[in-house]
Amino acid sequence: MTVVIAGGGLSGLSLAAHLALETRWNEQVVVVEDGSHPVEAIAWSSWADRSNLLDTAVSSRFDRVRVHVGGRSRTLSLGRFRYQVVRGADFSRVVRHIAEPLGRFEFRHGHVDGITTSDGGARVVVDGEPVEARWVFDSVVGPLDPPPVDARLVFRGRRVRVERPVFDPEAPTLFDFRTSQVCCPAFLYVLPVSPTEALVEHTAFIAPDAPLPGVDAQHAALAAYLDDVLHAGRCEVVHEEGSVLRLTAGTAPRRRGSVLTIGTPAGMVKASTGYSYQRVQRDSAAVVRSLVEHGHPFDLPAVSARHRVFDAALLDVVTRDPRQLERAFAALFRGPSAEPALRFLDERSSIGLESRLFAGMPVGTYLKAVGRRLRT
Ligand SMILES: Cc1cc2nc3c(=O)[nH]c(=O)nc-3n(C[C@H](O)[C@H](O)[C@H](O)COP(=O)(O)OP(=O)(O)OC[C@H]3O[C@@H](n4cnc5c(N)ncnc54)[C@H](O)[C@@H]3O)c2cc1C
Repeated sequence: MTVVIAGGGLSGLSLAAHLALETRWNEQVVVVEDGSHPVEAIAWSSWADRSNLLDTAVSSRFDRVRVHVGGRSRTLSLGRFRYQVVRGADFSRVVRHIAEPLGRFEFRHGHVDGITTSDGGARVVVDGEPVEARWVFDSVVGPLDPPPVDARLVFRGRRVRVERPVFDPEAPTLFDFRTSQVCCPAFLYVLPVSPTEALVEHTAFIAPDAPLPGVDAQHAALAAYLDDVLHAGRCEVVHEEGSVLRLTAGTAPRRRGSVLTIGTPAGMVKASTGYSYQRVQRDSAAVVRSLVEHGHPFDLPAVSARHRVFDAALLDVVTRDPRQLERAFAALFRGPSAEPALRFLDERSSIGLESRLFAGMPVGTYLKAVGRRLRT
């Protein structure tokens, strides 16, 4: 019987590739994608300390990063991690290259109107037509009762070519706090292409009920960074991107009958960072493992309740007091290597590592935030 993947974005294509590469599983798969948010328009950065099934889609890799926090610019090693970029177009090409020759994968253009569970399966309505499926993997409709939004990550980026060689092509800037923190906690992110070309992004955390920063304000912050901080000279804008990510530290219910949510509706976007690429890869691998070992896709690792509480506390603290974001990042990334902080953000840290990382953070402020979280 058929398996339907609703949405052919990051999570849908990742799952398709993982299913295609699993030789012990050979059912028909239909990936339904309406083209409303094409992956070709996006690129995903992430850090990884192990190889991945889809590594052939990686277009650049870095072994160090820069940060500017607490008034200091530093270059940090990544230890066992590498920071990498996957362009959506490459990703899509690699996935199709893996799946299409098998003859049991169909990439269908269509709009998913709705998904309902039925006896022993589920029904997906695609452009008004029902498609019956044994399992449905849903990255577009999501659960009926999603967890509340804890904050929003608002980013606006410009790929620029500038007059002076101000970018370090060997090291992305993960965060640079030389931007106003008055309206909201914010930093600049720089993904270099060459000494004179980079994606420069203004990123802000906004409380769920607070007004969003205007596009003009974020463009002004980008211009001020290029002019007054980097002294980049004349600047040509090659490409623009921007989005508002809804951040939630709550746990999304994932199973509805034969339907499993994947991707963003399944809580794959890390609430304190907005990254999801590596989490989606790990989740795809776990779903396929469950299908093969148990005959269903629901035997998935539990989420780390402790790390969810940390995410919720961070978002609570920084949206109440914008200065705390820089303080938190300064503490987490204070060593010569970013590896401990990245391990923590990957939710693979021990309590011992966490207590070392949290030293220097205002413990009382965070404990109050945890208390508020536990009362809700
Ligand atoms: C601009 C931007 C940049 C980001 N950069 C990064 C990054 O660098 N690193 C990182 O880790 N994360 C990043 N993220 C966050 C996150 O990783 C991405 O949003 C990721 O694409 C989420 O994967 P997904 O499968 O949930 O959603 P998507 O990749 O958006 O996939 C959903 C797909 O479903 C399609 N679709 C929607 N509705 C329907 C429907 N009704 N019927 C059929 N198809 C439908 C859409 O066209 C889309 O292709 C970024 C997000 C954005 C918006």
